[in-house]
Amino acid sequence: MHKKIVILPQEVVNKIAAGEVVERPASVVKELVENSLDAEASLIEVEIKEAGKKFIRVTDNGIGMSRQDALLCTKSHATSKISSIEDLERIFTLGFRGEALSSIASVSLMRVVTKNEEEDLGIELEIEGGEIKAKREVSVRRGTSIAVRNLFYNTPARKKFLKSSATELAHIIHILEQFALAYPEVNFRLIHQEKELFNFLPQESLKERIKEVLGKELADSLLEVEFKDKELEITGFVSKPEFFRFDRYGQFLFVNRRAVTNKSFSHALSSVYQELLPKERFPVAIIFLEIAPKLLDVNVHPTKREVRFQNEGIIHDSLVKAIKEALTNSSLILELKEKFYSSFQDKAEEIIPPLVKESFSPREINLVSSDTPFIHKLPFLQIANLYIVISDDEGILIIDQHAASERIIFGILSEKEKPIETQNLLIPEIIDLAVREAEILKENLDKFKEIGFEIEEFGRNSFQVRKIPTIISRSPRELILEIISEIYKDESKIMKLEKEKLLSLIACHSAVRRGDVLGELQISRLIQDLKSTKFPWTCPHGRPTMIRLNWEELQRMFKR
Ligand code: ADP
Ligand code: MG
Repeated sequence: MHKKIVILPQEVVNKIAAGEVVERPASVVKELVENSLDAEASLIEVEIKEAGKKFIRVTDNGIGMSRQDALLCTKSHATSKISSIEDLERIFTLGFRGEALSSIASVSLMRVVTKNEEEDLGIELEIEGGEIKAKREVSVRRGTSIAVRNLFYNTPARKKFLKSSATELAHIIHILEQFALAYPEVNFRLIHQEKELFNFLPQESLKERIKEVLGKELADSLLEVEFKDKELEITGFVSKPEFFRFDRYGQFLFVNRRAVTNKSFSHALSSVYQELLPKERFPVAIIFLEIAPKLLDVNVHPTKREVRFQNEGIIHDSLVKAIKEALTNSSLILELKEKFYSSFQDKAEEIIPPLVKESFSPREINLVSSDTPFIHKLPFLQIANLYIVISDDEGILIIDQHAASERIIFGILSEKEKPIETQNLLIPEIIDLAVREAEILKENLDKFKEIGFEIEEFGRNSFQVRKIPTIISRSPRELILEIISEIYKDESKIMKLEKEKLLSLIACHSAVRRGDVLGELQISRLIQDLKSTKFPWTCPHGRPTMIRLNWEELQRMFKR
């Protein structure tokens, strides 16, 4: 027999972390799916319209509720999961506060349909702003279906804070990805505007589920983490250093199968990978920490996204140990380090063509200087691995190599009069993406096409890059991952970009960077190309690409 719903006594209520549970459609999805998982469902279907702003329905095949429980479930502090203060110290379920359904019901139009094993007929309830308006018996299968319409209909101020559908959808996908990773044995489906976005089938192993959620390519590159101590156990996977991402999005920590954010976790990851990855590159990690509930407080945050450990230090150190071990066990760590650094060197060599390194070809100098008035006084100086200093008849020019390169690429890709020069890739590059990443790329495929990329869908969440603009010298895979990450990072940004915006992102991410050591030939090209762009003086963001000091100004400064 499963426990009945009770209304928690005031002394327990007082101990519960209070605060807003329902921030956005994704929080509704999170709470409803948690309930389905607590009800031991093996199939959970999430249907949404307008990214959940209009409609959310979560249907499960779990244990269901009795008619009596159904009538109670949307009351404040009504829960079947705990009943006393002591229970708060040993929480084995995802929910425990009895607040989710009541908070959601009070700001929406809700319909609950549920039936348990014992009763022949189920019950359907219609609830408006928290009030039960209608109830009837219905013949349904065991399980629960909760539909939430017009979220925040009666709280316009909160409704106003909702973001674009694309952003809200991304949040929902992210929440479901977390559940999918934490519960590989459960079948999760997401349907948006009547279209199935994914159907993660029940899997026997986490690895198989990772393949579905984060892509096969990434799953195949993972190293297993296994660590056991007296009080805790850490399992899961971390990525080999060459499979980094450009944000922390691929880092998941589950504490007793609950997705949480935790500083020790991100810190442990960065400290282990810091020597293996360059700045702004992040490993992927899917880590499960199992710990006795008594050593853990989950009652610290209203949405339960943070937890407190009795001993945070031990958790941090164990995570570091576990991750380090995974990397060392694979006996790859040293090999990788070498490989990584040598690959950097290779890159540096590509940047400086051999021709330039040996000697500066006089033909090149002529070629560059003949039609480039402001550079006939080569040589120039590259300083701080960022600025190029040259002089001409009028004075001194200081060029910011990144801004200049950005302007050049932007200029070429936004050229309207002539077609963008493109090149076919000898071997098309296949990119396997996570669901969320794939959604972002799909939204913007037509824009990529307009600026010279040929990218096609190649099976679910996989893409094939066949053609790229000639001006781009970076690996298309990395460039695309980085652009996706940029689009996702900014909450206020809509996911479907304007062409201009995509152009400036691509220009920024494929431009020469601060720190790139440039060869003389490259510098000459850069100067020449900059001169032939339409707006050479500023980068696409409006920052200057170069600063000029006239001879007169200099003389004045030196009081000559
Ligand atoms: P909590 O999960 O913290 O107990 P909720 O407000 O989320 O609080 O849910 C209240 C109660 O309603 C739960 O304790 C549970 O008994 C019941 N309930 C909610 N959703 C489901 C479901 N999908 N299947 C079975 N019972 C459910
Ligand atoms: Mg709940």
